[in-house]
Amino acid sequence: MARTPLISGNWKMNLNHFEAIQLLQKLSYELRDHDYDAVEVSLHPPYTDVRSVQTVIDADRMQFQLGAQNCHAEVSGAFTGEISPAMLAKLDVNYVIVGHSERRALFGENNEMVAAKAAAVFGHEMTPIVCVGESLEERESGQAEAIVETQVRGSLASIAAEKLEELVIAYEPVWAIGTGITASSEDAQEMCSHIRNIVGSMRKDAQQSVRIQYGGSVKPSNVTELMAMADVDGALVGGASLEAESFARIVNYKAT
Ligand code: PEP
Repeated sequence: MARTPLISGNWKMNLNHFEAIQLLQKLSYELRDHDYDAVEVSLHPPYTDVRSVQTVIDADRMQFQLGAQNCHAEVSGAFTGEISPAMLAKLDVNYVIVGHSERRALFGENNEMVAAKAAAVFGHEMTPIVCVGESLEERESGQAEAIVETQVRGSLASIAAEKLEELVIAYEPVWAIGTGITASSEDAQEMCSHIRNIVGSMRKDAQQSVRIQYGGSVKPSNVTELMAMADVDGALVGGASLEAESFARIVNYKAT
């Protein structure tokens, strides 16, 4: 099955709304219409920038998909400081990252919370990008596959089976995020294939349709090799997405 690759820029807690608009415009200038023919591109600004980015995408008819970096699982209520999936949907957000390793490690998110968020995102007609990945210690002790399996099964547990077909999973080994160290393309392929098999065991029809991104120090210099792997369907990019030229070269990985 042909899966459309998804290249996602996670801007993390960077750029105010003026800076976000500047980056968006530079990025749009770097890309040509045909660059979007074979690849979907999602941008995940901080919450305070989402409305500004949405307005510019709309006004200039840009071909980016709007994304968010997180959301709460509930629609509304006494959750001071949180953002509801309904609020994101109202802003035409398409993709929401859930369970990023920084949220798991720094904000105490566990698989159960991630599962509730992923289901809520689907419940509002958006697509979750569910992040999983092992630590260096877990990899070195030979537990990477088992850890990732527990994360995948736990983080997808609340999603309606038929929705698994539309899901995006990001395999992001924690030791590769923001470190400059990238998993080898063979290691990335092996784990993405493992994840695809796990999703297939949960719903056969989803095995070939689920899209699996690799994330962890993706750069223009390594993206082509990673994207050549059979089960790697895209990239979740942090640092290199904050610079228009480098992110454009990643989107354009076939020409890089
Ligand atoms: C990320 O933020 O998900 C990420 C992979 O970051 P980086 O590309 O900087 O490693």
